[in-house]
Amino acid sequence: MHRAAEIIIVGAGFAGLSAAIYLGRAQRDVLVIDAGKSMARWEPKVQNYLGFPAGISGKRLLERARAQAHQYRVRFKHDYITAAAIRNHQFTLRGNSASYSCHVLLLATGIFHVPPDIPGIKACLGHSIFFCKDCDAVRVRGKRVAVYGWTNETAEYALAMMAYTSQLIIVTDGRRPSWSRQHALWLKRREIFVATQPISTLRRSGSKLKALLLEDGKEVLINAIFTTRGDIVFSGLATELGARLDAEGQIVTDQCLRTSVPGLYASGCVTTANCQMIIAAGQGAAAAQAINRDLLMDTLKLKT
Ligand SMILES: Cc1cc2nc3c(=O)[nH]c(=O)nc-3n(C[C@H](O)[C@H](O)[C@H](O)COP(=O)(O)OP(=O)(O)OC[C@H]3O[C@@H](n4cnc5c(N)ncnc54)[C@H](O)[C@@H]3O)c2cc1C
Repeated sequence: MHRAAEIIIVGAGFAGLSAAIYLGRAQRDVLVIDAGKSMARWEPKVQNYLGFPAGISGKRLLERARAQAHQYRVRFKHDYITAAAIRNHQFTLRGNSASYSCHVLLLATGIFHVPPDIPGIKACLGHSIFFCKDCDAVRVRGKRVAVYGWTNETAEYALAMMAYTSQLIIVTDGRRPSWSRQHALWLKRREIFVATQPISTLRRSGSKLKALLLEDGKEVLINAIFTTRGDIVFSGLATELGARLDAEGQIVTDQCLRTSVPGLYASGCVTTANCQMIIAAGQGAAAAQAINRDLLMDTLKLKT
């Protein structure tokens, strides 16, 4: 089966849905293709999204945004896009269940925060194992917190976490720290302890972490882990289309979210922007406005 649309958005997370709402309202013909794996599904209580003082689950926010897009005749298709090509200003996409073509393509495919490599952590994700200081550090004020990692970023994360708690430890899970001498000095001066032993397992009660068990038999009592293990950036389609990426594989855009390939836009965590729901939504809106404006200018130029 083949489906065509004026604009295709790949990804229905915050960036894709926000763009879809704007473009639907702009009377554009929009098809959103999504594999249903938004990272937001893991957040039980979003506390930093504007307008929800009591918090709201990431899943519920996504459902509400999708319902909002449906009001403007945006079409949705559940599929995973495996390949993309461009020819004569026309994009073609191959999915697991269909093929697609469009004049304008917006990639809002997001990233995947790699969780710590500890058996049994799944139940704790989003509850006591966190990926984002700005989203979740305020929840663990005064509690026992471990920062998982071994890089400069890990050291900086731990140093920043001191604003929330003094009961801090870095766990490298058997890796040798690779942070700089300057970072080592900062950690030493602030007396942040570093445990380099491998972690064999964890102790938890439901979704609440209780302790990490190290390979040498020691137990580290903790209430939460913040991980800095890195991300997988879903920018493979952009690579196939020849778009510029940065050293971390994130899609490089201008302020209007245009990539280096004409007609190809990107927004949300797959770009170089800070990975936050509200930023992804804002970028989706900005991309949609640019797309709508650029399409109008194309039409006007054709007619003169
Ligand atoms: C545990 C956890 C808690 C978090 N808590 C918060 C929080 O409290 N506040 C906050 O601001 N942020 C939080 N975040 C980050 C937040 O989830 C992201 O900022 C947000 O989801 C980014 O939106 P996005 O649209 O860029 O990507 P996503 O929401 O991840 O959406 C990307 C979509 O693209 C789809 N996709 C990818 N590739 C393809 C393909 N090839 N074909 C089809 N579909 C594809 C995916 O299936 C997915 O549905 C949290 C993240 C995690 C993991």
